[in-house]
Amino acid sequence: MESIRQIYRIGHGPSSSHTMGPMRAAQMFLERNKEAVRFNVTLYGSLAATGKGHMTDTAILEVLSPVAKTDITWKPKIFLPFHPNGMLFESFNESGDVLESWTVYSIGGGTLANESFNELKTEKIYDMHTIKEIQAWCERTGHSYWEYVEQSEGPQIWDYLAEVWNVMQQAVQNGLEAEGILPGGLGIRRKASDYLIRAKGYGSSIKSRGMVYAFALAVSEENACGGQIVTAPTCGSCGVMPAVLYHLKDTREFRDSRILRALATAGLFGNVVRTNASVSGAEVGCQGEVGVACAMAAAAASQLFGGTPAQIEYAAEMGLEHHLGLTCDPVCGLVQIPCIERNAFAAARALDANTFSNFSDGKHRVSFDQVVEVMRQTGNDLPSLYKETSEGGLAKNMER
Ligand code: SF4
Repeated sequence: MESIRQIYRIGHGPSSSHTMGPMRAAQMFLERNKEAVRFNVTLYGSLAATGKGHMTDTAILEVLSPVAKTDITWKPKIFLPFHPNGMLFESFNESGDVLESWTVYSIGGGTLANESFNELKTEKIYDMHTIKEIQAWCERTGHSYWEYVEQSEGPQIWDYLAEVWNVMQQAVQNGLEAEGILPGGLGIRRKASDYLIRAKGYGSSIKSRGMVYAFALAVSEENACGGQIVTAPTCGSCGVMPAVLYHLKDTREFRDSRILRALATAGLFGNVVRTNASVSGAEVGCQGEVGVACAMAAAAASQLFGGTPAQIEYAAEMGLEHHLGLTCDPVCGLVQIPCIERNAFAAARALDANTFSNFSDGKHRVSFDQVVEVMRQTGNDLPSLYKETSEGGLAKNMER
């Protein structure tokens, strides 16, 4: 498996596959084509179907148009065989001749690939790639999941995770401060600050739940506005992990060093899904985004509360299992409905999964690895209507 840095990418929303990935592809293409006088970028499949709402064109134009005239061509009905999120970059000289033509795919979490390269399969950092193997190692050696991360990544991972944690906390704070209407035309008002204020008026248990909602809404609303966030594992699901960790730091006073270890463990679980299945809504639906975020947050919470390796695995398994089959149907292609509320519910569910697991001895029938495989198969079986094309579900049935 590759570094957990691939799970936690710092960047701007609203979509890791639809903005971060295309923006990085544009930067790579520009690097090789600085002499071009014109660019054309063709977007295929899911990227074209929901690219306007996800601001894919804005992300690409931000890179290429300051250098040369850039046209965007939308082909939502054409799905290239390699992956639903296809892009063709073309550069031209003054005579109109093609200088370079490059087809590349945004395969989720901001990662790029095509038939000849795959960022997902570059640097191998980890020698084990299932939770079963890693859990057995933990139980055999007495180490924790986060120690396997440290051993595999080296001590410099802590500086990176500290940066990740800073950006996550800042996104919560920015989102709680901001008010107004989200961009895109749906006319949705930011809710995070209202939820925070109302939550404070309740007794402890409802207040606690309301604060988790407020923190998740804050980060997801920042994402919808193109603010700085951390993928965990994607932009669309970026509110879940910060909400759970911010809440636990706030209420239980966990030290930052413990939060970083929880981030490491959560990153490991996300990385196993990314390696053995997918974290791309266009590939497997929202179960791979919000479902995986919930599993990661459940693992993080369980570790913070002293869960054993088996209890941590159980918490993560429930976080994903109870999101199986979840479709991706963003209204108008915007990462707003159902995405923002869905982050709040997943954060609450992650805390429930932790509680449920901590009441157990960690023994259970369906393993995390099995659920990952079921998620992959379910994602394959889902019609493309429900995989970030905005042609089915809420996207089809909700009037603007
Ligand atoms: S529905 Fe889920 S997978 Fe689809 S864009 Fe929203 S958060 Fe991402």
